Amino acid sequence: MNGVYINGEWREGSQVLEVINPATEALLAHVSVGDATAVTLAVDAASAAFADWSKSTGRDRGALLRKIAEGVGAQREQLMHLQSSNNGKPLFEAGIDVDDVIATFEYYAAIAEGLDAGQDRPVELPSTDFSARLRREPCGVVGLIVPWNFPMVTTAWKLAPALAAGCCVVLKPSEVTPLAELRLAQIIADAGLPAGVFNLVCGTGLAVGAPLAADPRVAKISFTGSNAVGVQVMQRAAETIKGVSLELGGKSSLLVLADADLDLAVELACGGGFFNAGQICSATSRVLVADNLADEFLRRLQLRAEGIRVADPFSDDVEMGALINRAQYQRVLGHIQRGIEDGARLLCGGERPAGLEKGFFIRPTVFTEVPLDSALWNEEIFGPVLCVRRFATEDEAIALANDSDFGLVASVVSANAQTAERVANALQAGLVWINAPQVIFPQTAWGGYKQSSIGRELGPWGLAAFQEVKHVIRAN
Ligand code: NAD
Repeated sequence: MNGVYINGEWREGSQVLEVINPATEALLAHVSVGDATAVTLAVDAASAAFADWSKSTGRDRGALLRKIAEGVGAQREQLMHLQSSNNGKPLFEAGIDVDDVIATFEYYAAIAEGLDAGQDRPVELPSTDFSARLRREPCGVVGLIVPWNFPMVTTAWKLAPALAAGCCVVLKPSEVTPLAELRLAQIIADAGLPAGVFNLVCGTGLAVGAPLAADPRVAKISFTGSNAVGVQVMQRAAETIKGVSLELGGKSSLLVLADADLDLAVELACGGGFFNAGQICSATSRVLVADNLADEFLRRLQLRAEGIRVADPFSDDVEMGALINRAQYQRVLGHIQRGIEDGARLLCGGERPAGLEKGFFIRPTVFTEVPLDSALWNEEIFGPVLCVRRFATEDEAIALANDSDFGLVASVVSANAQTAERVANALQAGLVWINAPQVIFPQTAWGGYKQSSIGRELGPWGLAAFQEVKHVIRAN
């Protein structure tokens, strides 16, 4: 399977990578992937296409984005299957991913269609000697680098606004999860974008991501992934003063306040901690529960966590699937072991489920009494692991939640709307859910405080990330 698409053509790469099904450990495909030479060719093609694409009308770009949304809708089932078999996530979760992709392309189609009218806006000046207008223009050729946990979704959140803005794109999917991405690329190719506007180079981070971040013709890198790699991308981009948008890790809290509905709190804790087997940047892996509710909350949480059906992603009653690969599986088990050694109390889980001999499965895991200075409490685990701590006052809960290098999201459970809103305002996080699961809409911004992000995706912010601001001032 060719994993390189440049200037409207699929090409063979320079190396072949194996793609594995994490639930069975079976080989799914061989993908021929690219290297620095392919990146250069892709940037050549994108640079050549930019002159015309950047001058196309928003209406035309919007129509193409709508065609992509329709193409994704028409292949919903196939994309779900590819995503579940390559990611190990339950089929119903893959359906949520595909629907998010469709909603994102539709949202930015509408935004693109509205751009022509607002292209040049008059600016009021304090002087009648001059008049001024503001234009927003596409920032150029952009490099999009995405991770494996939500491959199609993280791609759509970058690609749809980049194309809407009039940028030309070189996309680098995760080398671990290229299968749904390659199908998505074919859908984009079939939508009829001019050659060179959309290019894709599969491959490893070092062979493809690093040269993409370094190429001086790339105006901006939009990256989603780990903090360690985010730092490297930023360092490379700094050499040619490229813009960067970074969506990185998290260590987010769910606050169960003293008047919370306990069943709701347990559902939200499990949703926030075990969706995608906990491999979500927004995992609410810290659960802070008010003293008066803590014992009963832990009793119900343990019951629920132990009852979660961990199974092959294609089973009818699966609730949680597999982790992405052996390295991640061993990393998470290592964190669990170290947590025990650091003095945290393992309430449930922490091991492979009985009866699943193959595949990278770990039972939903809950720790209590997690030491504040432990890695378990402070580092992103990226697996199905919840850490519960009790608190006495609202201020203590807020302080515990904010005591992190990250600040991506948070959740609050409370029967009192005023209390919940007050706590939400005090949390250092880019998105706070109140009594709600982790629903996301293209209209609302995605991104966080502190070391979780630079910039915001989705909404008008997602578009602005791919635009330059130009003022034209004329003497009257
Ligand atoms: P990763 O950082 O290992 O890889 C991300 C991408 O960067 C991959 O495509 C990889 O090939 C590429 N890459 C690796 N080394 C590179 C280099 N030197 N230069 C350029 N590119 C390079 O991340 P991952 O393991 O794929 O994903 C998990 C991480 O992503 C977690 O930390 C998670 O929190 C984060 N994430 C964040 C968000 C968010 O919106 N904040 C969303 C999803 C995932």
